[in-house]
Amino acid sequence: MDLTVNEFIEQYKKQFQSLYAYPVEEGTDEQHYSALAQFIKNHLSTYWKDTRERYLDNSAKQVYYFSMEFLPGRQLRNNTYNLGLLDVVKEGLDELGLSLDTIEEAEVDPALGNGGLGRLASCFMDSLASLSIPGNGNGIRYRYGLFRQKFVDGYQVEVPENWLRNRNIWETRNTKSTCTVRFGGNVWLEKNQQGYMETKYEDTLNVLAVPYDTPMVGYQNNTINNLRLWSAEIPVEEEDQYPTLESREPISEITQVLYPDDSNYEGQLLRLKQEYFMVSAGVQSILRHFRKYNVPRKNLPDKVAIHINDTHPALVIPELMRLLMDDEHLSWEQAWEITHKTCSYTNHTILREALEKWPVDMMKSLLPRIYMIIEEINRRFVEQMLPLYGERITWQTAILQNGVVNMAHLAVIGSHSVNGVAKLHTEILMEDVLKDFFEIYPERFNNKTNGITQRRWIHLANPGLTKLLDNKIGEQWKRNPSELKVFKGFERDKETLEQLAAIKLKNKKELADYIEKVKNVKVNPEAIFDVQIKRLHAYKRQHLNVLHILHRYLEIKRNPKADYVPRVFIFGAKAAPSYTYAKQIIKVINSIADLVNNDPDIGDLLKVVFFENYGVSLAEKIIPAADVSEQISLASMEASGTSNMKLMANGALTLATLDGANVEIKDFVGEENLFVFGLTSKEVYELKGRQDYNARALYEGQDKIHAVLNALTDGTVPGLQGEGHALFDSLVQYNDEYFVLKDFESYVTAQEDIDTLYRNQPEWLRKSLLNIAASAPFSADYTIKRYADDIWKVKQHSSNGFAVTILDEPLA
Ligand SMILES: *Cc1c(COP(=O)(O)O)cnc(C)c1O
Repeated sequence: MDLTVNEFIEQYKKQFQSLYAYPVEEGTDEQHYSALAQFIKNHLSTYWKDTRERYLDNSAKQVYYFSMEFLPGRQLRNNTYNLGLLDVVKEGLDELGLSLDTIEEAEVDPALGNGGLGRLASCFMDSLASLSIPGNGNGIRYRYGLFRQKFVDGYQVEVPENWLRNRNIWETRNTKSTCTVRFGGNVWLEKNQQGYMETKYEDTLNVLAVPYDTPMVGYQNNTINNLRLWSAEIPVEEEDQYPTLESREPISEITQVLYPDDSNYEGQLLRLKQEYFMVSAGVQSILRHFRKYNVPRKNLPDKVAIHINDTHPALVIPELMRLLMDDEHLSWEQAWEITHKTCSYTNHTILREALEKWPVDMMKSLLPRIYMIIEEINRRFVEQMLPLYGERITWQTAILQNGVVNMAHLAVIGSHSVNGVAKLHTEILMEDVLKDFFEIYPERFNNKTNGITQRRWIHLANPGLTKLLDNKIGEQWKRNPSELKVFKGFERDKETLEQLAAIKLKNKKELADYIEKVKNVKVNPEAIFDVQIKRLHAYKRQHLNVLHILHRYLEIKRNPKADYVPRVFIFGAKAAPSYTYAKQIIKVINSIADLVNNDPDIGDLLKVVFFENYGVSLAEKIIPAADVSEQISLASMEASGTSNMKLMANGALTLATLDGANVEIKDFVGEENLFVFGLTSKEVYELKGRQDYNARALYEGQDKIHAVLNALTDGTVPGLQGEGHALFDSLVQYNDEYFVLKDFESYVTAQEDIDTLYRNQPEWLRKSLLNIAASAPFSADYTIKRYADDIWKVKQHSSNGFAVTILDEPLA
């Protein structure tokens, strides 16, 4: 993009003055942020419009990615970079005596997602735009994001995240594209004069869905896609019916909060309302846009692909059926043919408690017409399957079971594609969780291993590494990630390894400064920075990490003279507010931090840092400084993981169970270049099957485990109010559901191997380099290309040939 530094300065000054009516010199960081974001948005609007028109002119097939969560992170730097303006803007600001680093901190980081699922959706939006694939996001504009996490006396406290306090510059309220979503009331079918069955509604709650569109900027390719987030409002013509603030509640609450839990849904009426609201508005707006293509309705699957990100948007299936039958007057058979060719579904979890099931009564009264359609989908499914597969399989795969609607079953039956998010996860779906469906529809199942956008997670988060890569292997890797493997050629190049070490140290110093600033803890940048950042959940096993830290502490106390490698354990994790056990683990970690960080015997040998309010912006600070990536879930439980990919790409060495995408990380980088420990998924299944696991025997029989568990309950850790006992009980009394004690010994051994290797810096650096070089396959560009080719059948529509190119595909 052509803009000189001087032009930028001129235009920026104008922009600033038009907003604030006084000169730039007097602006606050926040005002500069607003002015700069507005400047960038103005700048991109032409490309946004052009992209829309280009897709329409090409009669391009579009994909709509439906997700209850997006976790985009800050957008100013990302958008400026992808527009090709970053250097000019930085230089211009510099001349004005301003700094992008400071200004950027004034941008809120929208927490419209819980964790990996939402972040994946946002990485995908970045890759869709960067590949010039017509791809749209569809979700909810939550008035309040995920709670802001604070620690008070080491306990998590949740406060509302008022992320829209200052205007959100990036979004455009698009009143032209509103639609109405109906809830409840009475519904019946009536024959009209033309002989059609017409659907009649009475006494419904009508909600106006207002879209807020946000530009998704492609990487230097003039492509700007759209993320559409819906907000619930009172229909203009019904304003009179809502005279009091209280009466407006039932409508405004629909898009008020993001549910703070991605692995456990109680039967919440409001959650179901949110899901249908987003789905109905999204599908209505798709059909409206589709009419512009002027092709017969039966060709909808040639022009539209709808993706269901986890089961939350699975009501897309009955909603599309409803609109095709009731509004477009197609027959059931025609509508069904179109619907299942249009929809595809990604499964994200095997956790039982996360597989959504809605009470039939709730669905029936909230969404009467939708329920009728689900009943009919189910009736036809059962009728078709009974003679082919018999009673057992048919009833186990039915959508309606014991008074609930099984959303995963609806999603599988109504889609042409079902994918898992890592090889192992897809295998587990086919062999266990969705086994019966795999028997019925084997052709629907496929794997799409998750990915991350390297633009945010390397180019921007780690400019030092990016520059080193550019110097060593040229800049091609930015457009063709598989070029990263060329970096492997430098594994024995002393100069490169030293440069790599210097970059890591610089990143660690920056993080150390930040730790001192926000946590008031001094850490040694020469220590191993050991990082576990992800939602707090028992299956992710932060408590295994905790036990090892305590073990280490006891070792140093017992034998202070031995030769230890200093270690800083870094955590970031929010716990769902209702998840007591997870919150108890947070408290235990914070108390252990108090213990070790203030013990003069320990000094630099051990430090524990638990950041408050983990999110994308924190991840961007932590990841480039990490030496060790903790990916220690119980094998089979983590569907993919993506922090493992981000950390590897930044040169951290992975400490992993063979779970999720860790398996593929191992395959690409080679077993000798990461630290694998613990039970395999197969062993976990066998151990569960045998039903003879005895955690108490491990506690009583193994000295290290004994000592560590005792330290949790005997007052060694200060300030606990029973949380140590809670942990002890879950592990011993309740027999350790996630086999923490079983994996403990091999985890400790792997941790010792890490120390040993770290002492041999050239070897450590070599392995770090090999990890960076092997991270290319986890570029979301590849993941998206595979979704586009295999599932969505959508093409790249570049305007200038500058789409990110994918020359070869490193993942078979
Ligand atoms: C990448 C990311 C996650 C996912 O982490 P996992 O270790 O895969 O669970 C969660 N939250 C944020 C903010 C992320 O950037």
